Amino acid sequence: MSFKTLDDIGDLTGKTVLVREDLNVPMQDGVVSDDTRLRATVATLNELSDKGAKVLVLAHFGRPKGQPSEEFSLKKLAEPLSHVLGRPVSYIDWEGDKAAVAALAPGAIAVLENTRFFGGEEKNDPAVIERFASLGDIYVNDAFSAAHRAHASTEGLAHVLPAYAGRAMEAELKALQKALGEPERPVAAVVGGAKVSTKLDVLKHLVTKVDHLIIGGGMANTFLAARGVNVGKSLCEHDLTNTAEQILDNADKAGCTVHLPYDVVVSKEFAANPASLRTCNVHEVAEDEMILDVGPAAVEALGDALKTCRTLVWNGPMGAFETEPFDAATVALAKTAAALTKEGSLVSVAGGGDTVAALNHAGVAADFSYISTAGGAFLEWMEGKELPGVAALER
Ligand code: ADP
Ligand code: MG
Repeated sequence: MSFKTLDDIGDLTGKTVLVREDLNVPMQDGVVSDDTRLRATVATLNELSDKGAKVLVLAHFGRPKGQPSEEFSLKKLAEPLSHVLGRPVSYIDWEGDKAAVAALAPGAIAVLENTRFFGGEEKNDPAVIERFASLGDIYVNDAFSAAHRAHASTEGLAHVLPAYAGRAMEAELKALQKALGEPERPVAAVVGGAKVSTKLDVLKHLVTKVDHLIIGGGMANTFLAARGVNVGKSLCEHDLTNTAEQILDNADKAGCTVHLPYDVVVSKEFAANPASLRTCNVHEVAEDEMILDVGPAAVEALGDALKTCRTLVWNGPMGAFETEPFDAATVALAKTAAALTKEGSLVSVAGGGDTVAALNHAGVAADFSYISTAGGAFLEWMEGKELPGVAALER
């Protein structure tokens, strides 16, 4: 993997830099409700500004489908971004943008209007690429979370302007490379979450890459069913048991050890601390019970397996962690992984919307080596797919 970073960018005096960032933040009543993505822009934007460049932020917001509107305008993000950067940020509309850019002082930072106000953005249309490119001299892609899309601002621009990875992109790519590209072995992957069907490609890819595949969450039920276990009322994709068997076969051939839970936490109803809560062997699940978490004995064994590993990638919670006590396995395994990381014996990389929420809930997110906040892009990377936005930087 080789790409240019801001270290290679040279003298920026008099230069205008187009920086693709992810400003697609959640908002409630006009207020940014989670500024994680804004904070991820700080390193790159302030560094470029400090180096005297005119900094133009390119980003999309929502799905306006080529139709300009107040609702999807990025104007409202100039102020919150300025707050996070600790310096002024102006806003530039697609009308009169050339003159507005020309009037910027060196070091100034401006947010351009939503790239998706052009229908051609998502089509990677050469005319739109040219339109964006005409505003700047250099392209910096700092939005890993949008890199699985070949759009004008995420991929096309890298072909027409000198292209560099921003600091957030650089950190993400280095972490992912360490986790699955050229990892220290043995490597473990934890894959959990609700359904096998959403992560089939992830599972297929991982069995060829990792030494230990730990399957938890609802998807473990489908694998247990494939092995002849009666999973009662559990969430289970019975139509995918053949696929699950195939994955287990492939793992066997590739020398990948698959860990399925042998004890589980079950209940008759899906509620917090239900009266029917109990822990049992996977072969003792009753017809009217649901598996909602991995059991304590299995979690302990999984922790021991992690202790033999040097690298961990994690996507998907081990149980229905939003409802107590079905967060227990996720929290316990996360704490073990965090402790091993702190000791220096494990490189741990995790990603996925619910996974990040679960690790925050466990209070260990800061102790992991790297947490990816990219949803779709992280999963596509776990599937072994080439991300167009990254490939364009690697040329
Ligand atoms: P991510 O967003 O990190 O990729 P997913 O969306 O695949 O993760 O899965 C998260 C969801 O899986 C959570 O809402 C969790 O409650 C659910 N889940 C985990 N284990 C079970 C289970 N045994 N039964 C039902 N749902 C489960
Ligand atoms: Mg999810």
